[in-house]
Amino acid sequence: RGGQAEKEIPFAKPGSLTRVYAVASGKGGVGKSSVTVNLAAALAADGLKVAVVDADIYGHSVPRMLGVEGRPTQVETMIMPPSAHGVKVISIGMFTPGNTPVVWRGPMLHRALQQFLADVFWGDLDVLLLDLPPGTGDIAISVAQLVPNAEILIVTTPQQAAAEVAERAGTIALQTHQTIVGVIENMSGMPCPHCGEMVDVFGTGGGQTVADALTKATGAKVPVLGNIPIDLGLRQGGDEGKPVVLADPESPAGTALRAIAGKL
Ligand code: ADP
Repeated sequence: RGGQAEKEIPFAKPGSLTRVYAVASGKGGVGKSSVTVNLAAALAADGLKVAVVDADIYGHSVPRMLGVEGRPTQVETMIMPPSAHGVKVISIGMFTPGNTPVVWRGPMLHRALQQFLADVFWGDLDVLLLDLPPGTGDIAISVAQLVPNAEILIVTTPQQAAAEVAERAGTIALQTHQTIVGVIENMSGMPCPHCGEMVDVFGTGGGQTVADALTKATGAKVPVLGNIPIDLGLRQGGDEGKPVVLADPESPAGTALRAIAGKL
């Protein structure tokens, strides 16, 4: 056939000690990337060797949120990933010129993911987090093909509309025999800055609804791993490149995120 043989993906080998989590959501803007970078930073702060692959073609925001300033470099046939706060990062945004929107089809994305996993020099990792694009499309299937042992984390808001999407995610996981580790509910209310009372900006119960739907769809217990409140510090940490789990670990969002990281 000619051409180069594809390199092996180290995390997909039987006996690999790296836990791979694919972080998924039904739609954009629910905080999937914010959750990913904070979990990564919290795990790295606990002394684990952690990396993030930012495969969110629509909103590749991981480098900014983690304050990654370096660029990937090439050493012979391998790509060396930059890092920040002890987390190694490769982002699809590092390979697209400027801010050009990425209009990619499934096969190209599959190929990019394959390269991120096989051609990047990750070294020994304890945890690898994959920030997936929103939705339950081709990329979920690609992850399952490339890293069959990857486990799935679902991020949702408390709004009820998320349940349908979660059920689709459950169906895919069933087909690919992947484990859904749990559901993370984000934007779960906001403490009123004047009186401290919780305001349920996006309603309540979405995380539990999704977890119940996935438990039913897969026949395996899918728990809610935690609820993260709306927190100015979380948004600010993302904008400034210092995740809230590091900038303000005792804040409501920092506390919730560290507790979730402790369950992984
Ligand atoms: P997604 O990856 O799902 O598209 P992002 O992580 O990019 O979502 O979050 C969307 C926006 O909402 C970002 O500006 C982020 O800072 C903000 N955000 C996410 N979660 C919270 C939260 N719990 N409190 C405050 N702002 C949040």
